[in-house]
Amino acid sequence: MTAAPLLASLAPCTGSPPGPASLPFTWREAALRGLRGDCPRCSEAKLFRKWLKPVDHCLACRQDWSFERADDFPAYISIFVTGHVMAPLIIALIGEFGMSTWATLAVILPLAMIMMLGLLQPAKGAVLATMWWSGMGTFARERPIGHPDHLDLK
Ligand SMILES: [Zn+2]
Repeated sequence: MTAAPLLASLAPCTGSPPGPASLPFTWREAALRGLRGDCPRCSEAKLFRKWLKPVDHCLACRQDWSFERADDFPAYISIFVTGHVMAPLIIALIGEFGMSTWATLAVILPLAMIMMLGLLQPAKGAVLATMWWSGMGTFARERPIGHPDHLDLK
């Protein structure tokens, strides 16, 4: 086996550069676009083609989303948020309402599962948006004209 296929898979995407788009002015705006499941760069097309699978290229601005990976960070965010919401609920169910441990588990486990699974896609969208906004990996760091960090590369 040669190293060429492996190196080719690690090479940055050399596809066509992304087209013009209404770039977000702040990280918050980009992250909100990602949370909604829209392309953080243009917000005119969907970021995901399946539940947690981003599109290869944005249908509107042609931004390449195929190469970058959010890895486990969206899952960590989902677990963190779910735990912080569920902890007071567990304390209230046991302490205030006197529910048994098994009854509390019967209520909390399905709720926690639904909440964690429901948060995964928005968390992944926000993580990808943050990576794009920061110019991490192969993403080009872009800022709209008029932004203090705008670089005119002409
Ligand atoms: Zn786009």
